[in-house]
Amino acid sequence: MEFKVNRVICRAVMCAALVISPWLAAHQPDYQQAEITATELSAGIYMLTGIGGNVGLSVGDDGAFLVDDELAPMTDKLLAAVASLTDQPVRFVVNTHWHFDHVGGNSAIGNSGAVIVAQENVRQRMARGQFMEVFQMEVPPAERHALPVVTFGDSVSFHWNDDRIDLIHTAAAHTDGDAVVFFHKANVVHTGDLFWNGIYPLIDSQSGGSIGGMIAGVERVLSMTDSETQIIPGHGPLSNRHQLQEYHALLETAQRRIARSYLAGKSVEEVVAARPTAEFDAKWGGGTIPPDNWVAMVYASIANQ
Ligand SMILES: [Zn+2]
Repeated sequence: MEFKVNRVICRAVMCAALVISPWLAAHQPDYQQAEITATELSAGIYMLTGIGGNVGLSVGDDGAFLVDDELAPMTDKLLAAVASLTDQPVRFVVNTHWHFDHVGGNSAIGNSGAVIVAQENVRQRMARGQFMEVFQMEVPPAERHALPVVTFGDSVSFHWNDDRIDLIHTAAAHTDGDAVVFFHKANVVHTGDLFWNGIYPLIDSQSGGSIGGMIAGVERVLSMTDSETQIIPGHGPLSNRHQLQEYHALLETAQRRIARSYLAGKSVEEVVAARPTAEFDAKWGGGTIPPDNWVAMVYASIANQ
């Protein structure tokens, strides 16, 4: 239902403002040249970066535990990076949400015997296939081995590699299937795409995401963390609680200003033209989603609520 409403609004008012496929066409990744970089955050806990979403990794006697697995063409390099850090196989993969740049390795890694775990809406969306209006991209139904085999509703905990790892669902945020992953002993959090560090984040209303849910999800992470916590964002460099607070202020300011204009009857074109995020654009507007598209995205989310 929400999908249908979103499509109707998109066609009628703001599709041109939302679509950012020209940016993607101009930024085709070079998989041949790409490398995976591993940063050790704590004993046995790593952040891996390549092309696609940031990856979390726990290694130890129990086996390798991955959080997200990038884009499909990066899988061999990702597995080689894991193998350089441990001689244990990948036993679990957590998907923080269904997007293709976070689940690309699922098929190969699931096929090799790892157990894929995700919030239940992730499996449903992957099994059905999706069309991403914002990128004008058809994502076909996932093959059997790429689907999560263990799903959860609100939370699930792992007791693994001498740590406790909590997967916590943040509802209706980036999508309707987001999970943040909290390594308690290591004091490390992987936020998935709830947090893009230094770049305007995609809010996937079509997948049940919302600006209000993003803000609530960030507040939940802030409540679980302290000044020592290392935060792996979905995209962008390694972060911390201070930077997450800055991001929270950005989201709240944008929501407040754009909602006020929407409620005053302004069209998406008028709101974009008024540049409600002007003071944030230099810092946050240089990523996948340029400022005008991001303002339209927040507007669409508010209009859909
Ligand atoms: Zn995403």
